[in-house]
Amino acid sequence: MRTNQPTTIHLSEYKVPAYLVDAVDLCFELFDDGARVHSTLSVRHNPESTEESAPLALDGDSLKLESVALNGKELAAGDYEETDEQLVIAKVPVQFELKVVTWIEPQNNTRLEGLYKSSGMFCTQCEAEGFRCITYFPDRPDVMARYRTRIEADKNTCPVLLSNGNDVEKGDLDNGRHFVTWEDPFPKPSYLFALVAGDLVEKQDTFTTCSGRDIDLRIYVEARNAAKTRHALDSLKRAMRWDEETYGREYDLDIFMIVAVDDFNMGAMENKGLNIFNSSCVLASQETATDLAFQRIESIVAHEYFHNWSGNRVTCRDWFQLSLKEGFTVFRDATFSADMGSSTVKRIEDVTLLRTAQFAEDAGPMAHPVRPASYMEISNFYTLTIYEKGEEVVRMIHTLLGPELFRKGSDLYFERHDGQAVTTDDFVRAMEDASGRDLSQFRLWYEQAGTPELTVSDNYDDEQGVYRLTVQQSVPDTPGQTDKKPQHIPFALGLLGADGETLPLTLENDQNAASAPVERVLELTEASHTFEFHGLSQKPVPSLLRSFSAPVRVVYPWSREQLLFLMSHDSDGFNRWDAGQRLAIDVIQSLVASTETVEVEPRLVEAYRSLLGDATLDQALVAKMMQLPSEAYLVELANSPDVAAIHRTRERVATYLATALRDELIECYHRNTGTDVYEITPESVARRSLRNTALAWLLMINDETGRDLALAQLSAADNMTDRMGALRALVNSDYASERTQVLTDFYERFQEDPQVVEQWFSVQASSDRAGQLPQIHALLEHPAFDWKNPNKIRSVVAVFAGQNLAAFHNPDGSGYEFLADQVCRLDDSNPQIAARLVTPLTRWKKFAPAYSALMRSALERVRDKSELSADLYEVVHKSLES
Ligand SMILES: [Zn+2]
Repeated sequence: MRTNQPTTIHLSEYKVPAYLVDAVDLCFELFDDGARVHSTLSVRHNPESTEESAPLALDGDSLKLESVALNGKELAAGDYEETDEQLVIAKVPVQFELKVVTWIEPQNNTRLEGLYKSSGMFCTQCEAEGFRCITYFPDRPDVMARYRTRIEADKNTCPVLLSNGNDVEKGDLDNGRHFVTWEDPFPKPSYLFALVAGDLVEKQDTFTTCSGRDIDLRIYVEARNAAKTRHALDSLKRAMRWDEETYGREYDLDIFMIVAVDDFNMGAMENKGLNIFNSSCVLASQETATDLAFQRIESIVAHEYFHNWSGNRVTCRDWFQLSLKEGFTVFRDATFSADMGSSTVKRIEDVTLLRTAQFAEDAGPMAHPVRPASYMEISNFYTLTIYEKGEEVVRMIHTLLGPELFRKGSDLYFERHDGQAVTTDDFVRAMEDASGRDLSQFRLWYEQAGTPELTVSDNYDDEQGVYRLTVQQSVPDTPGQTDKKPQHIPFALGLLGADGETLPLTLENDQNAASAPVERVLELTEASHTFEFHGLSQKPVPSLLRSFSAPVRVVYPWSREQLLFLMSHDSDGFNRWDAGQRLAIDVIQSLVASTETVEVEPRLVEAYRSLLGDATLDQALVAKMMQLPSEAYLVELANSPDVAAIHRTRERVATYLATALRDELIECYHRNTGTDVYEITPESVARRSLRNTALAWLLMINDETGRDLALAQLSAADNMTDRMGALRALVNSDYASERTQVLTDFYERFQEDPQVVEQWFSVQASSDRAGQLPQIHALLEHPAFDWKNPNKIRSVVAVFAGQNLAAFHNPDGSGYEFLADQVCRLDDSNPQIAARLVTPLTRWKKFAPAYSALMRSALERVRDKSELSADLYEVVHKSLES
């Protein structure tokens, strides 16, 4: 905690470490009132460093130093300097052994960084800079060492003792204590260190790798969760097989462990051989988890597993390169999920997140490139830009190279850099070397922040049968960056004829017009490009940026006829969905803008009607298309948005559609309901998704039949998807007494299960009916709410501010003051979470003046809090100064 300005760290000032650590020998003595950590480091001067006689500076945070010894000789207090952040020894030999003993208090660690206790269990979170809260160490990813870890603890309270690698020794000690020693043969950065000690049960499985080695798979959970591990184990095995087949990557240790922890700042952590998961991202059963949760767990288990190669074997040189491991690994897990289910729906979900939240980040005060140039607090940079835009950047390389050359590039990358800490530039160079393509202009995607905008115009020359398409690109200014250069953008497109057929795309200098493809990836490199398509007998309807081939905004003067046409004819599933979204957005925006009451576009009803009746279309896609663009996305698209007006208008359009389509919705509900056995197949997931979407629409108009269907579904459901679908629909209706009743019943039934209680909280916090401010306050007072548990905080406070926009943006400013209060309260115990929660307020500049003034003053109150953490300092100051 500090009140002075934290230092800014710049990529341009990167220097290789002056000292390297070859081996780390750790011994943890764990007690109820704290832990003693004995650390022995084998240190040598880095031959690549020009600082010959540099002092040895080790990072440390909140440590109580007990002793330091160099080459076996205890140092006196004057031989070293101890500050709040470092242990510095001015004179050291070229090679030496350093022994440091520290005392820490995991039971009082509410930041959940380093070693802490969660429901009686010791566990760690070291990424990005948590290892320094355990012992003194050069806590930077380019110092890679071999770890040997001995853990000693009470045998009764901590029968299970885990760390990275393989267990090599175990035994009993005096006073009812025991120990286990773990050895990790692979050098790793300190952020991948992990330790777990507690009373856990073990679920086992095995996996035989492509070379025939048997891997011992284990999930450790509290006994009450033993029945909720099957899905994660199955997902893990699918991910291991997929990575062998798709990337040729085999697992390297003999054992792979996953531990579920209730109190966790992140989703999950890829520590070598010992992944630690937030319980909500790993535990699932039919009775307690929704289909969405099942899919999310599969993708997170895969993501952390894939890191074993993209992150652990090849790691980041410094934290500016975070997207090296995250962007690539998110791309890997997204492709995996697409292969396991509906690839179009997966793409729609990812793009929805990107366009709603990452585009907003890219246009806000914290906008930064995929490879940032500076930061104050690295934990603020675990952002959508690093992860999701970083993923899009890797995806574009895949699109430009094609799958075979991309695979050649990833093989070269893993082979060339195995065991090294490298940069995003090394990644791109491997792709260039393997493919022979020049990606120098493409590198701007890593350097320039902001979302590029493509303005597309076209004309058709009917005498010559030529269609001309002009694409102009610009990249908006962002904090600290102006006058940006044009980027290298893959732009996938198709053209549709009057009957909806795809037309051949013959460019002007194509030799063989007959074999012209019906889809092309055009490459944009200049500020403006014009493409000519020949041999067309009619003006086509363009299908632009197919499958969202680049993370850009496309501006084209679509007519409603064109959008309706694409919505029912485009062979690209993503663009078909996107046309429906654009049409709904256009209708809602024009109603928000008009001063008098205008009729809602009647053709919208017909479009949704034919969608509901189309049994030939992928039903998962139909369910997606039946969802109107979210309020958050409508807000993101608007200039100076008036949130209340957007909320009212969206409700009005939804009500109008639901009223007009009432009979079709009931029919759709029944068509997708039956006595089917619960399975997680794409078909049954789609059926559940559609019937719950139909329920949501029906309850929006307080339909009595809909209400009865929801109540019946709630009491008959054998799975959480249907239960939650009915609950959510009822909570968002005007049936107040039913709402109270079903919420009470639901809580009574599931109160022992923290993951279900979190869902119960968020259903209420996201609802404009059940989540007004007094009700949110009541949730915070609820016995199941826990200020020490990040999941509970997110499910009430973050959901309220991020999803319940009408209530959060209450014109009286009470929502803003509420958020400021919670952020200030949390900053003292968990600054990482506080800095993430404050995000909605940092967008103050975007909103209509009446809102932005109130948001700003709430933010200023946070700024003026005493003892502001570095995390919060950076976010609040950057957004107020911009
Ligand atoms: Zn990751």
